[in-house]
Amino acid sequence: MDAFKFSRAATVDQATVSGAGPVKPIADVRFVAGGTNLIDMMKLNVERPKVVVDINGLPLDKVEATPQGGLKLGALTRNSDVAKHPVVVRDYAVLSEAILSGASPQLRNMASTGGNLLQRTRCPYFRDTAHACNKREPGSGCSAIGGHNRMLAILGTSKDCIATNPSDQNVALAALEAMVEVQGPKGKRSVPMHEFHVVPGATPHRETVLGAGEIITAVTLPAPLAGSKQVYLKLRDRAAYEFALASAAVVMKVDSGKVSHVRVALGGVGTKPWRSFEAEHELMGKSVDAANFRKAAEVALRDAKASSENGYKIELSKRCLVRALTMASV
Ligand SMILES: Cc1cc2nc3c(=O)[nH]c(=O)nc-3n(C[C@H](O)[C@H](O)[C@H](O)COP(=O)(O)OP(=O)(O)OC[C@H]3O[C@@H](n4cnc5c(N)ncnc54)[C@H](O)[C@@H]3O)c2cc1C
Ligand code: SF4
Repeated sequence: MDAFKFSRAATVDQATVSGAGPVKPIADVRFVAGGTNLIDMMKLNVERPKVVVDINGLPLDKVEATPQGGLKLGALTRNSDVAKHPVVVRDYAVLSEAILSGASPQLRNMASTGGNLLQRTRCPYFRDTAHACNKREPGSGCSAIGGHNRMLAILGTSKDCIATNPSDQNVALAALEAMVEVQGPKGKRSVPMHEFHVVPGATPHRETVLGAGEIITAVTLPAPLAGSKQVYLKLRDRAAYEFALASAAVVMKVDSGKVSHVRVALGGVGTKPWRSFEAEHELMGKSVDAANFRKAAEVALRDAKASSENGYKIELSKRCLVRALTMASV
């Protein structure tokens, strides 16, 4: 690990002035929240900031009701606190289930809402500086294409990067149509969750729309839809402490046996948390039965591209979505 300067921000304005934001693969300034991802990356020399700004003193650790009937999760709320919050458990069960399916209790006690949004990929070559990686060093090549890619993405990939977004929380936030609240040198803005992360294209080092100096201040959830059911289903190599091979977040309402509202997001298979507008469109107004769920899954995975070791994910992801839809419909 390189030597770095350490400072603490007392206000959000101070943080946005001092922080360079996660724009470049090796930025000079980094915010630290729970540190469960950033410090790992620094120990591996993947992240080599000159300055680390501790944002834990900022007043961004509250869960608050919004005037619109929704919920605002401060960026520094811990994953454990969010997952156990009674309103989240009651009205946003998909988020609680997703968070609790990830990492370990100790990690969730430290991990923050904002840090989870920005956690980096678990692609083994990204984490190992001995290998070429376009995300870590733009233009150096991608060792995963043609290498070990069993865990990597099948949706939203490019010829330059096939890394998976590893977060469970982010998949639930996509299905809940959350807004990411951001503050920076140019002021405040709200970004819809499905627009916050970007696919790699020719610039895999750019993972979100955050600009230089911008900080995530909160995530806002819209008011829950009365009568809807929510499910997060995660498939993985072992039952705990493991990232998703495929996951599905579903928010669905059924009236008289037909789908009247549905939101679908997939995890473990996309280069970003994968909201499937195609599956939602396919399901709207349809009867809740196995044939229609399978059709939606086919549509959701229509553009999937397998690499040498991860072709199994296409069928796995379809079955995961069918199962999650079935669970949400009973
Ligand atoms: C062994 C292990 C297993 C895991 N398993 C899972 C799993 O199964 N599922 C899962 O979803 N996750 C898993 N995780 C990842 C874990 O959820 C993340 O490490 C955690 O959510 C990151 O949050 P943090 O607050 O610690 O982030 P930090 O490490 O503090 O920060 C991460 C990044 O976000 C930036 N950042 C943090 N807060 C802000 C902010 N407010 N504004 C702007 N930038 C910010 C930092 O600069 C850094 O770039 C696992 C982690 C480990 C170590
Ligand atoms: S898949 Fe992306 S993160 Fe992994 S080696 Fe290739 S460029 Fe790097």
